[in-house]
Parts: sequence; C-alpha cells; structure tokens
Amino acid sequence: MNINSWRYFFSFCFFLNAFSHAEVSEYPLIPSAEVRLIGGGTFRLEPAKITKPTLIVFWATWCSSCLREIPLLKKLHLEHGEKIDVISVSIDTDLNKVRNFVEKVDAKYTNLIDDNGRLAGFFGVKQTPALFVVDPQGHIQARGNRVASLISPLLSLVKERESMSVTRDTVLMGTDISFVVLSADEKKAHNAIDVALAEIKRIEDLMTDWRESELTSLNRSAAIVPVKVDPEIFFLIEEALKVSKLTQGAFDISYASVGALWDFSRRRSIPPQDADIKQALSRVDYRSIEIDSSKKTVFFKKPGMKIGLGGIAKGYAVDQVIKILERQGFKDFAIKAGGDLTVRGRNKGALWQVAIQSPRDKSKNFALIPLSNGAVATSGDSERFFMFENKRYGHIIDPRTGYPADKSQNVTIIGKNGYLVDALATGVFVLGPDEGMKLIESLEGYEGVIIDAQGKISVSPGLQKSRTVI
Ligand code: ADP
Ligand code: MG
Repeated sequence: MNINSWRYFFSFCFFLNAFSHAEVSEYPLIPSAEVRLIGGGTFRLEPAKITKPTLIVFWATWCSSCLREIPLLKKLHLEHGEKIDVISVSIDTDLNKVRNFVEKVDAKYTNLIDDNGRLAGFFGVKQTPALFVVDPQGHIQARGNRVASLISPLLSLVKERESMSVTRDTVLMGTDISFVVLSADEKKAHNAIDVALAEIKRIEDLMTDWRESELTSLNRSAAIVPVKVDPEIFFLIEEALKVSKLTQGAFDISYASVGALWDFSRRRSIPPQDADIKQALSRVDYRSIEIDSSKKTVFFKKPGMKIGLGGIAKGYAVDQVIKILERQGFKDFAIKAGGDLTVRGRNKGALWQVAIQSPRDKSKNFALIPLSNGAVATSGDSERFFMFENKRYGHIIDPRTGYPADKSQNVTIIGKNGYLVDALATGVFVLGPDEGMKLIESLEGYEGVIIDAQGKISVSPGLQKSRTVI
C-alpha cells in the first residue's frame, strides 16, 4: 500500500534527530496522535500511554501476508499478555469489514483504525504488515514485517523490566557515591560494585590533596624540576589543560594556590585577606603548566605553583567504574559521585530519568532529563559554601580574581565522558550564563542548563528540543 503522508513522517524524523548529539536516546519516540477505536470513540496514542513493552501492528484485512501473522501474534499475546501490550492498527477504510475481522480473530488488544493513513504516515509505513516494538517509554526499538523477527527484541524488553535493581550507597572522594545496577544476578552485581568501589578508592588515594598522595608529591617538586608523573594523573592534567583553553582559563587546575586560602569545609568561615589572594594569584595560570607527552613529565613554570584535580577527578572515577562494569557484562546501570552521574542502557526497559535538584530548594527537582548513554555533571554553590556577612561564598573559584565565582548558582552539562562534563560544568559555572551558554552551543555533543545568580534558567537548544522537563 502507498501512504502519501510523507510530510508528517519527515517532520517527525526531524524532531527525533534534533537531540541525537547528546545521545539522550538513539531510538525515536512514537508520535502523539488521536486515532479512532474500532469499537467506537477515539484513543490518543502518545509516548505516555505506553507503559509496557508494546508491539504496534499495522495491517489490512485485504493483505494476505498480514493474515498469516495472526496465529503467532495471538500466541504471543496469549503467552505474554500480562507483560506486553499489542496495539493493532488497521489501515482499512471499511469499518464493518475490520469489525468482522477482529471478531473473527478474537483479538483482545487495543484495536485502532487509521482510515486516513495519518498514523501510518507518522511511522513511515510503506507496506503491510508493519510491526514496531516500542519500549515502556514510547521509543521505537525495532521494526519489521514479521512477528517472528520481533519476538526477541520484545521479550528482551520484558526481561529488562524484570531484572533487579541492585543498589549501593557510600561515601568516597568526600562525596556521596551511589550505584544502581540492573541484573538478574544480585550477587554478581554486588561483587562488581565491590571492585568498582575499590577502584574509586584507588583513584582517590592517587589524586587527593587532603593527605599525602602522588598529587601532593608532584606539587612539592614540579615547580623546581620537571617531574615524571603517574600516567593517569598525566592524562588528566593534559585533558584539564584542553578544558582550560576551551574556557579561556575559567577552568584551571592551578587554581589550587589560591584555593588553599579558602575553607569551604565549614558553614562558618571567613574570606581570606585581599593581599593574600593577590599574592597567591601570581601562581595561578594554566599556561605555566608545561607537559612533555613523550617523557610524561610535568613542570610548573611559576615558583610555588600547584594543582588540584577536584574539578575533574570524580568524573574520571565514574568513567573508570563504567569500564569495570561493562567488562563484567553489565549493560544497564547508573553511577553517581556527588554531582557527577553517568548512565548506561536503560532502567527496567525505560530510559533513565536524571533529576537535577533545585539549587536553593533541595526538596524540589527543577529538571528531569531522560537519558540512555551519557554523562551528566552538575556544579553548584549549594553543597560546599559558607555564608559571611550575608554573602554566599561557594567552592568554585574564579581563577582570574581568586574569589568564588558568582555568576551562576548551578550548571549542568550533558555529554559523553564523565571527566569532560565534570570539568566543563566547573568552567561554565565560572564563565556564567552568557559566555557559558555560548561555549556549550559551540561544542558538538554537549548540552547544558545554567541557572544564573538571579535564578534565571537558560537551556541549550538541543536540550529544549528533547523531552527534558524543566
Ligand atoms: P564537586 O566537586 O562538588 O562535584 P565541581 O565538579 O564543580 O564540584 O568541582 C569543584 C571543585 O573543583 C572544587 O571543590 C575545587 O576542588 C575545584 N575547583 C574550584 N575552582 C576551580 C576552577 N576554577 N578550576 C578548576 N578546578 C576548580
Ligand atoms: Mg566539576
């Protein structure tokens, strides 16, 4: 059969592709449309109506290959009817014929009639039968012309929904760490989380500046002679310098000299002396960090210079943990370390919903971002800060002034790598809404939300087009 509603189809595709960069979902959403029910009345087909793994079947009474699919469809419905939904869409124009037919095949699914071909147009149906496997969030996961070829993707969605959420919460790297791992094997998931936590601990021990570590020993000598450093620290310094360039120094690991003057570990604290800040600022400049990629050495060109990896290490730790879980065969999980979160796969067959807390009212979420494979980092001034004379001093330092950056309350960046979104969120926080949003828009594969100092929210264009709720 031919459908001439291509216009709908194309506009639909455009909408779906709009957000593909940030990898929120590789799968298109079903459209929202009002469709006639065979039994009378109408049915609004829309993503929110889909609550179980669903098979949408387009067919016609006069199509003999459609009729051949009916026994298997009935069997599927009989065996898994509790766990799946079937939506049948007849493209006939003769309602009586369809009614008779539906009675004959004794179909107990939602029976729709698409006599103007509009829905078929939306789905890009060019011939019948056409079948679509839709996940519980309304994304089209698979398509085909035979029931037999779609049973396996449909049942794997059913299986995903039945797997257990194995969770763990703990504190490491000075922050809350949470795991959600979807697995049918609870013990295996817990063992994997144990290995992952040991990895986070290893990274913390390597990069902390709260106690003796590789990093503190680097800081002691690198301003005197070039120092050969641990390959992971070298990698992060190299990447941090790239982010410094991108943010024109708003993200700068050499902030540490001036950062050391501030104490954000207590709610009651006082700002350092102006003169001390000025003096420390002379040791802050990422361009004075010299790295030698072949020798893996680092040299600080300014005497007394030091670095801190607090703005990038947590995202990196999450990245490493992802590798561990993937190597062990897990496909669906979410890992959070403070404001850094990465998700993979799905949560019981649905996209992960990443909630971002309102910076000034933690009982509320101001955004809900549906995500499949991606990393989200939030930097804010609401976790580590102190108040002095009615002014808020947050822990992200503007390396140009030595004082806490005050153009933003909260920045969320979405992208692929944990360490990059982590560093970018910190840098964009310093840049503030104008320059920050320009930077996000210029980076392919990144999206973001900035709340400025007055509480005004700006959302990057790609995110506006997604199903993100703000
Ligand atoms: P969190 O550590 O709460 O996840 P961020 O990822 O935004 O928050 O990192 C903030 C941390 O980064 C600070 O606690 C400090 O260790 C470090 N930092 C502060 N200012 C800067 C800056 N301008 N550039 C790089 N790192 C910074
Ligand atoms: Mg950060």
